[in-house]
Amino acid sequence: MEYFHVNFGNDHKKEDGGSNLKPMDSEQLREYGHKMVDFIADYYKNIESFPVLSQVQPGYLRGLLPESAPTRPETLQDVLQDVQTKIFPGVTHWQSPDYFAYFPSNSSVAGFLGEMLSAGINMVGFSWITSPAATELEMIVLDWLAKALKLPDNFLSTGEGGGVIQGTASEAVLVVLLAARDKILRAVGKELIGKLVVYASDQTHSALQKACQIAGIHPENCRFLKTDSSTEYALSPNSLREALSQDLATGLIPFFLCATVGTTSSTAVDPLLALGHIAKSNGMWLHVDAAYAGSACVCPEFRHYLDGVEEADSFNMNAHKWFLTNFDCSALWVKDRSALIQALSTNPEYLKNKASQANLVVDYKDWQIPLGRRFRSLKLWMVLRLYGLENLQAYVKNHIELAKRFEEFVSEDSRFEVVAHRKFSLVCFCLLPPQNDEDLANKLNRDLLDAVNSSGKIFISHTVLSGKYVLRFAVGAPLTEERHVIAAWKVLQDEAAALLRNSSKMTDSFA
Ligand code: PLP
Repeated sequence: MEYFHVNFGNDHKKEDGGSNLKPMDSEQLREYGHKMVDFIADYYKNIESFPVLSQVQPGYLRGLLPESAPTRPETLQDVLQDVQTKIFPGVTHWQSPDYFAYFPSNSSVAGFLGEMLSAGINMVGFSWITSPAATELEMIVLDWLAKALKLPDNFLSTGEGGGVIQGTASEAVLVVLLAARDKILRAVGKELIGKLVVYASDQTHSALQKACQIAGIHPENCRFLKTDSSTEYALSPNSLREALSQDLATGLIPFFLCATVGTTSSTAVDPLLALGHIAKSNGMWLHVDAAYAGSACVCPEFRHYLDGVEEADSFNMNAHKWFLTNFDCSALWVKDRSALIQALSTNPEYLKNKASQANLVVDYKDWQIPLGRRFRSLKLWMVLRLYGLENLQAYVKNHIELAKRFEEFVSEDSRFEVVAHRKFSLVCFCLLPPQNDEDLANKLNRDLLDAVNSSGKIFISHTVLSGKYVLRFAVGAPLTEERHVIAAWKVLQDEAAALLRNSSKMTDSFA
């Protein structure tokens, strides 16, 4: 890689003691911005040459960098040299086509350009007045996305509801939990907070548990209801009914149900319609977490997974996961925006302005935890405009086809087993041990995970389902093609063969 030599600051002070620093010089930005884009483009060009999972040891960086910040300016060339030699080794390459861990976190040219523009404008859009375009574009783009997902009209900003971009699904569930908590407390009295109960399945993302901790929900009143393979790890309406009747009988107050479309471990889909009816008849807020699988639901053939969302009070999907929008961009819709606003608004003198006071505008500061907020709608707008829904649908469908291919590979190899029914682009599978022994099976799969990930060739992750250690292969990185899935399967087969050889040698020597 060719480097460029530039000094960003002055090397010597002016005689009057002032500084020559020009931190936002447009010509400097033009020149070095182009060069930075070249640097990043080269990174993407060479991304397959890096170990996908960083192989460094904890604390590796401290010994490589000075103990304090430089007093005098350094050159961009030196900084980028350090990025190559010191930072990249400690990067796990989420955008690598050989990345199959957790869930994807997509980047794209459109998303990147949107991020760049947002960094360029660099406004802080907490109230409408601070940049009317930021608020208004966010409302419009989330209405577009709501329509693409065929969400009911009462999630649109034209009625009582509307969408808002949160940083993450964790923030999304927290703000709606706070809205629901305050709504019920207004009805029953603040002193009854200790009686409020939250329901979800044991497959629900831990973000809900964290939200409950923050919201002051008594830890004993968080019901993470057991699921198993008989319902494909979906929450059973019957177990919800049972839990509700026990809690009501002891004077507790059910107020919040979180259903998931596409759980983190195995992409289970909770039955929204049945759960929604139960929630409604018990006066509970229903939140639907579709952080990962929401992206697939823009395709007509997968939209049925959202059937019943009309019963929900709030719905969330992460455009930054599998919808080509660079992190962070978590889209949240609510039917009743006043519930959010009542829980989260403040009105200090220093933020007062005519438009807000006259109630003419949305002030997104009242829909989120922090005050400050970025112009995140730009990147989602650019993704939607520069790709169009047809391409986005084809993109997601291609990953689902690739996952199906991988699932076929696993099913055709008698040494392996597909563990849970695949719905989207995640395959849960495991290597079968030579003898039917659960501890041995778990150890074998743990060893297989370590072996493939430390090879640097691919990166996959794991979960536990019904006590079984399970490997997760999630297709969804923007550069992944069929050849990468085929190569990944070969890596898994080769490492598995080596492990099975060793394990039968060990068994022989004990025989
Ligand atoms: N919900 C589900 C279903 C998830 O899979 C995840 C993360 O993978 C989350 C919530 C948390 O996402 P975030 O990192 O945006 O808070």
